[in-house]
This record gives sequence, C-alpha cells and structure tokens, in this order.
Amino acid sequence: MIVGEAPGFNEDLKGVPFVGQAGKLLDTLLQNVGLLREEVYVTNVLKCRPPQNRDPLPNEVQACAPYLQRQLALVQPEVVLLLGRHALERVLPGQGPISRVHGTMIEKDGITYVPVYHPAAALHNPLLVPDLQKDFDNARQYVDRVRRLKPPEPAVPLEPEQMSLL
Ligand code: URA
Repeated sequence: MIVGEAPGFNEDLKGVPFVGQAGKLLDTLLQNVGLLREEVYVTNVLKCRPPQNRDPLPNEVQACAPYLQRQLALVQPEVVLLLGRHALERVLPGQGPISRVHGTMIEKDGITYVPVYHPAAALHNPLLVPDLQKDFDNARQYVDRVRRLKPPEPAVPLEPEQMSLL
C-alpha cells in the first residue's frame, strides 16, 4: 500500500490518486521493482485537494484520518510506503525528518511502514531519485520475504454445485 499527501489538480478531476507527473514517476519506481500500479493500493492522507495545492492543515488531516484508518484496516497491507513528510507525520508522528528515516522499516500496530521521499520532491530535486528507488527496492524485497514466510492460504472447498461443473 502507498500513502501520498493529497490529490492535486488532475487527481481531483479524475478522482484517482497520482495521475499527474508525480504519478508517472511513481509508476516508474514501481515498474522498476516489478510491480504494476494495479497491484498496489494507492491513496492519500487528504481525500480532497487543498486550494492551490497548499500543505494540508491539521484540521483537514484530522477530518480525513478515519478514512485512512479504515483503508488500512480493510487492505491489511504487508507493507505501507509513506510518501513524503505529511504521510509520515500523519501515520508516525514525531518520527521524522524524512531525510533521516527514509528507507527504514517502522512497525506500528502490526503494520510495517517505510517512509520514503515524495516523488514530487524527487521531480524538483532529481538527486533524491536514487535513494527513492533504493527504498522501493528494499520494500519490495521485504514483501517478498514476508510472502515466502507466510503459510499458504487454506484451499477453499468447492460447493456441491461447483463440483458438477468440473
Ligand atoms: N501527490 C500526492 O501526494 N498525491 C497524489 O495523489 C498526487 C500527487
């Protein structure tokens, strides 16, 4: 799962997160670790676009918090990438700054979080891209390890009417 900051202009229009320039970079980072966007649940701390793309206000973050909480509970992610300082501060308050903690695995309430730079920050400062990609690589390797250690899902028995279709 990936948690960004807030929808931008294009995201607000389409109702889909990360469809602009930052989204293109996000797709590339995912592709480079063998993941498609469809394999990852992508959302934001804020569910609406702040005017002029300003930083989220504390009351806006509070208002949207129950939605993110519910998304986490429903998705039950193996790992959550927190994109940028707003996602980091919302989910793991006081852990920052992102320049120090990016790429580290932080466990909270049974979920493993990895703060990483926001792709928009890497668009402004391409020197951040190698660190960003490395953090995606590590998170991907972590997911692979978790999946290898997981006991296989129990087989679901067929219903009698399904048997007749065999
Ligand atoms: N930046 C974000 O944090 N979220 C988006 O959906 C788009 C850009």
